[in-house]
Amino acid sequence: MKRGSAVVLRIALAALSCAALAACGGAPNAATPALTSTSPPAAQPPRPDPAAVAANELGVIPILMYHQLSANPAGDYDQTPDEFRAELERLYRENYRPITVAQYISGDIDIPAGTHPVVLTFDDSTRSQLSFADNGSPTPDCAIGILQTLSAQHPDFAARATMYVNNEPFGNDPRALPWLAAHGYEIGDHTADHSNLGRLDAANVQREFVENLRAITAAAPGYKVRTMALPLGIFPTDHALASAGAWDGTPYQFEAVMLVGANPAPAPYGQVDPAAVPRIRSGRGEVPFDSAYWLDHLAADPAQRFTSDGDPTRISFPRNLAADLNARWSGRSNPY
Ligand SMILES: [Zn+2]
Repeated sequence: MKRGSAVVLRIALAALSCAALAACGGAPNAATPALTSTSPPAAQPPRPDPAAVAANELGVIPILMYHQLSANPAGDYDQTPDEFRAELERLYRENYRPITVAQYISGDIDIPAGTHPVVLTFDDSTRSQLSFADNGSPTPDCAIGILQTLSAQHPDFAARATMYVNNEPFGNDPRALPWLAAHGYEIGDHTADHSNLGRLDAANVQREFVENLRAITAAAPGYKVRTMALPLGIFPTDHALASAGAWDGTPYQFEAVMLVGANPAPAPYGQVDPAAVPRIRSGRGEVPFDSAYWLDHLAADPAQRFTSDGDPTRISFPRNLAADLNARWSGRSNPY
């Protein structure tokens, strides 16, 4: 706990340097050469003015739901690799930046001021989402390969997504879950067998979740599963079992339960129900209220959208929206 005097001095110099820079409008000048040249970078970058970036951390967040990529899409939720690539490029161009579902539900949103969070989720753990070349890297035309390539081209677009997997995921390739865990992707529960939970009794509902959890942690030891997506968007008869339960001595508890369709999600600091989080479908463009519909809608009415203030420790929003803030976040509230 005890800090050395050198550390204290550096902090003091950094603080002075910040004050000097602020006083002269951000540009170093001849009056402060010693401070600007000898002090280390400040621990925190200057806080942007929330009003200047129209921050609204009570706005909605698109959580996109993807299924298969295919050269000849068959299902309504499938799309070609080119369509998927084009949607990612659109998201980048429109200043969306990826976060995971776990980050979303815990309010851990670490993107730059003026950008908007987007969550990319993938269901069913198919090989079109993740397959590997001989060198151990994702193939360039699988969904993760496309995301990795785009992120390499645009380093400010993080390769982040949440993968809702079943047992024997990604063609039962043993490389898949360890690779995802090692590269910062979230792995979520999508049940062992992709069962219709509405048709199972309570014991089998809980077995489906636990067998999936066990398969994930057997493949990626130490990985903690935090969220789940309902197969087919169908709840078990006892809705509470979607959030928590136990089977064969193994408990589970999910921070978020993801639905199928059909609108943007509330801000995590607003009136979100973690037991029923909506997702937007992305597919061939023939699904009502799909990703193209909602991205157009949010582009036309940007005040609805979550816009970051660039500082994860405070929650900035226009003062007239204050009633939307969930009371449990009031300690970080920063209306303007
Ligand atoms: Zn599914």
